[in-house]
Amino acid sequence: MSKLTQRVALVTGGSRGIGAAIAKRLAADGASVAITYAKDASAASGVVKAIERDGGKAIAIQADATNAGAVEAAVEKTVATFGRLDVLVNNAGTAIPKAFEETTLEEMDRVIDINVRGVFVTTQAALKHMKSGGRIIMVGSAVGERVLVPGLVPYSATKGAVKIFTQGLSREVGSRGITVNNVQPGPIDTDLNPAAGEWAAPQKAVTALDRYGRVEEVAALVAFVAGPESSYITGANLTVDGGMNA
Ligand code: NDP
Repeated sequence: MSKLTQRVALVTGGSRGIGAAIAKRLAADGASVAITYAKDASAASGVVKAIERDGGKAIAIQADATNAGAVEAAVEKTVATFGRLDVLVNNAGTAIPKAFEETTLEEMDRVIDINVRGVFVTTQAALKHMKSGGRIIMVGSAVGERVLVPGLVPYSATKGAVKIFTQGLSREVGSRGITVNNVQPGPIDTDLNPAAGEWAAPQKAVTALDRYGRVEEVAALVAFVAGPESSYITGANLTVDGGMNA
């Protein structure tokens, strides 16, 4: 039996990048997987098809993380489709890299709405259905602990909020047998943070491994935290950053 057989996972922002890799990996480990996306329906359906081609079960749900009603409906649809919810991966997130003093209020609101408010709303909705053995996993960021590069000030602050949210919530739901952990990637090559992009060189330079990470390297850690072998890990910030914060 695979590690996640008969488990149901919801991965927010699962249509591209790190979320897509997490969805595919959890499905490969045996879970039925729901993904949300904001805009890119064809990318989302590509992830569902890839999982189904490999014999897994998946659905895609359009739910913008800034729309609380849509997020709650996505959680309900996951449970209605697959019968339960065991693993929530709060992956949907965004960054708007630029100097802090040039950042507009609208840009700050957007980063806060998706990265913090969206995580709160999704987690609250998911907890209504989670039973003992449940797993809540944030995709925070290594810059939620140390900020070694410029251009990410509001973003880093939101990921710091995600870190302390993880720690606090772990104490509220631990007695129910639910764990809450924060996976903190370093620079990972995605549309959001391309390894060839304008902001890439200083990020690569501060890693010990002198390279960007791959989405699968983050998904591997998330799969471990989602699985049965992580049962005594909670309230933890687990960094997968090529040594960026070493
Ligand atoms: P991408 O931009 O490559 O992918 C983002 C995914 O999230 C897409 O599936 C996108 O859907 C979805 N998404 C974006 N906005 C929303 C929204 N408002 N509501 C719902 N879904 C949304 O990002 P990454 O894969 O790079 O990042 C994923 C997570 O990892 C984020 O939380 C990010 O902060 C974090 N992270 C990334 C790092 C990196 O270097 N890449 C480093 C550290 C953390 P759609 O296709 O519809 O737009």
